Parts: sequence; C-alpha cells; structure tokens
Amino acid sequence: VSIVLVRESAAGERRVALSPETAKKLTALGARLVIQRGAGLPAHFRDDSYAGAELVDDGDAALAQADVLVCVQPPANHRLAKLKQGAVVVGLLAPHADPGRVDALVAGKLTGFSLERLPRTTRAQAMDVLSSQAGMAGYKAVLIAAQLAPRYFPMLTTAAGTIRPSKVLIVGAGVAGLQAIATARRLGAQVEGFDVRPETREQIESLGGKFLDLGVSAAGEGGYARELTAEERAEQQRRLAEHLKTVDVIVTTAAVPGRPAPKIITAAMVAGMRPGSVIVDLAAETGGNCELTRPGETFEAEGVTIAGPLSLASQGSLHASEMYARNVYNFLALSLKDGTLTLDWNDELIAKTCLAHAGERKA
Ligand code: NAD
Repeated sequence: VSIVLVRESAAGERRVALSPETAKKLTALGARLVIQRGAGLPAHFRDDSYAGAELVDDGDAALAQADVLVCVQPPANHRLAKLKQGAVVVGLLAPHADPGRVDALVAGKLTGFSLERLPRTTRAQAMDVLSSQAGMAGYKAVLIAAQLAPRYFPMLTTAAGTIRPSKVLIVGAGVAGLQAIATARRLGAQVEGFDVRPETREQIESLGGKFLDLGVSAAGEGGYARELTAEERAEQQRRLAEHLKTVDVIVTTAAVPGRPAPKIITAAMVAGMRPGSVIVDLAAETGGNCELTRPGETFEAEGVTIAGPLSLASQGSLHASEMYARNVYNFLALSLKDGTLTLDWNDELIAKTCLAHAGERKA
C-alpha cells in the first residue's frame, strides 16, 4: 500500500499528517511512503528526515499513486479528483463545513475517514485528534493572553512593592480548557474555571484552579455538554456578570458538538470589566463565546482587549503535528498488516468515521 503526503493547501495550516517517527512506523508495517518535497517543512520536518520515503516534486503525481492520502485539512476537491478509485483519505475532513466534499468523495469512489468523528471511548483515545490538537490550542491561548495583558500573571514581591497575581478565568473545562488552566497556573496566575459538566469541578481543582460555581449543570450525550435552556443561560449570565468585575483575563473554550459556540460573555459584561482586561476567545473559529469577538482579529473595546485567534494548534506546528501524526498512525494501524490495508466494517472506529465508501455516502 502506498501512503502519500502532499503539501497542505489551506491558508495558515502549518501542521502535517506524517512525521519522521510515524513514517518509520508505517514503513515497518509494510507501507510504501511517497512524500511531496517540502510537505513536512511547515512543521519543521525536513525531507531527509523521512527515512526510506520516496520524494517527488509534483503533488499531482504523488496523488495519482496514493492508496492512502493522509492530511490535516480536507484536500481541495480538485485534488481529490487526482486520486484513483478506491483510494482512502484520512484527516479532519469537516463534512459540515462543505457538504459538497462528501459528494466529491462519492463521485471519485473514494473512501473518506473523518477523524473528528471518532467516538470519545478509551480505545479511540490514541487516535483522538480533537484532544491532541485542543491541548495545543489551550496552551497557546493562555500565552497570547499573557502577551496581550498589561499586567503580570504571577505575584511579585519587589523593592518597588508587591504586585498581586492576575486573576484568570477559563470558561469551559474540556481538553483545551484544562490545558489552559494548567498553563496559566504555571505562569503564576490565580486561576478559576467553570463548565456546565459537573465532573469538571474535580478536574479543575486537581490542576490547582478554583471551580467557579454558577449553579448550572448541563451534561449531555457522549460525555459532552448540551445546549443551555433560556432560564439556565439567564442564571449563568446573571452570576457571571457580577463575577467578571473581579477578573483580569478570560480564556473561553466552550463548545457544544454540532452547534455554534454558546455566547457566554455579553457586550454588557465586557463593559463591566476593569480596564486593561484581556479576553482570548478560543471558540472564535465557530463564532466565539464572546458577543464582540471578531474571528481572526485582536482589538480593544471599552478598554478591554479581545482576541479571536484562528488555527491556534497550527501555531505549535511541530508538537501538534507529532501528536496528530501519531493519531493518524494509530488509526491506520487498525487496518494495516504486512503492507496490506483491510478495513473491518464491524469496528465502530472504522464505521463511525467513514463519510463515503465505494461510491456510497456513509454520513
Ligand atoms: P468540547 O470542545 O466539545 O467543549 C469544551 C467544553 O465546553 C466542554 O467541557 C463543555 O462541557 C463546555 N461547555 C459547553 N457549553 C458550555 C457553557 N454554556 N458554559 C460553560 N462550559 C460549556 O469538549 P472536549 O474538550 O472535546 O471534551 C468533551 C468531553 O469528551 C469531555 O467530557 C472530555 O473529558 C471527554 N473526552 C474523552 C476522551 C476519551 O475518553 N477518549 C478524550 C477526550 C475528551
């Protein structure tokens, strides 16, 4: 089986789906690797670090040889058209973002696996791209907040007097939020977090954060949160508005699967914050948790700096790619033996991630 890596085409994407480490492991499983020259460079993997891989200049020529194409962002439809019938595409295929993509997979008789559809089960953990990438995003979001803040994060005792630590609030304590809490703690801030899933209290506290109890509990299906009712939302907002007057930095990470990001920080709340406060909205990609967020921009409103950074995981491209590539390797290893790919449709990890196969739509 030929596994192919070509340069990512999406703007701003610096992550890659194959690392030197996973290239070696895939070769050991009998795969042949074909890599477009320079494909690994955005993540700082040089061509010569992919030992044993065949390097080619022409991306289209590489695509034509692919039994398996690994990617981070979905390949453009004109690239999918270069693949031969029966080829497998593995990546973050984001079928909701472009419904035409599944049509393109069906039309080309391609098999598409969208890794963001993996169930959050113990067995799937080693392939969980959402978790591995969310961790980097949470880390970078806090560093951006620290960079923008006109205040120190840690407490300082100096000859010029004492500086009290910044109070940092992390909204949403999933994978990104918990990494944000850990990072803000390491920088010495006083950290609080809240979430609508009650089990997060213990997780926040175990990282040295304080759980902010807003009296709302909304656990949904599959370990995720559900959307709040109008009354729950009003209660959360009433308590939060009062509390935000004491907060210096907010990092928001709240999400509900398949829904736009919940709007949690209102314009009125921003107006009530102390001058020099900072909000970093990690949910900017899906519309933002703050009403004022402008995705991709950083600006000031009412003396508060609001940042809506995009592609945060991509900013840590080397480690994000190493982890993403391991996730992809672990997914392929389910089906790869002695250089042959055999898909087991009774395996829920295969069945649930599949978007299209043999000219049929699966999702
Ligand atoms: P996510 O990105 O979907 O959401 C981020 C957080 O926002 C979640 O913690 C959610 O509860 C919270 N949230 C939603 N609405 C909110 C609101 N109105 N106010 C405050 N917070 C709100 O979540 P995620 O980080 O992908 O994690 C989702 C779940 O999956 C978690 O329970 C996590 O522990 C679990 N998980 C399990 C595995 C596994 O066992 N394989 C791996 C990773 C994550």
